Amino acid sequence: MDWETELRLRREITQAGRRLWQDGLVAHTDGNISARLDSDWVLITPSGVNKGSLKPHQILRVKIEDGTVDGNGKPSVETPMHLAIYRARPDVNAIVHAHPPYATAFAAAGLALTEPVFPEMIVRFGEIPLVPYATPGTDRLAELVAEAIQDHEALLLQNHGAITVGQTLEEACGLMEALEWTAKGLWLARALGNALPLTPSEIARLFAMRPNSIR
Ligand SMILES: [Zn+2]
Repeated sequence: MDWETELRLRREITQAGRRLWQDGLVAHTDGNISARLDSDWVLITPSGVNKGSLKPHQILRVKIEDGTVDGNGKPSVETPMHLAIYRARPDVNAIVHAHPPYATAFAAAGLALTEPVFPEMIVRFGEIPLVPYATPGTDRLAELVAEAIQDHEALLLQNHGAITVGQTLEEACGLMEALEWTAKGLWLARALGNALPLTPSEIARLFAMRPNSIR
């Protein structure tokens, strides 16, 4: 990986951080973002830094295989979870972890986002399952997430937040936004008294439209 590409990715990560922070999907130093550099290394946000004011030079290189850090500073506490996903999904090049308020409320209530109400949600995600609670930053959480992400592009983490993956950072960020809109839409529909589910035949049609329906 040449230096120019690495610099571009570092800038993309800072832009993604600003976007998540401005959109209210992360607060203070919460959340973390990573991007695959090559087959051995990823770039990941540092621990304890506000994503709205992140600088390209603060981002760290970490080895996918064993978490070796190249450079000074402390990588995100959720690094084990990111590395486990890169090991489980060679097609994933970017990962976003955030605490979007509505989605996190569903996660805190122990509810997966599986209601077939919004067509775009089904085409984009199929379903968004709920990963059982494990302490943030632990290998146990990394294990649970790596298992659940095999067949999905987005997950809720019980009592914690959400995670999305993509082939690019743009995609992973966009999916995080879409995940939060889904949660917010469901919340508001329920507040009105009903969220009408789509019919089984329509759900089947939408599942068939999924770009990655082979997985
Ligand atoms: Zn978190």
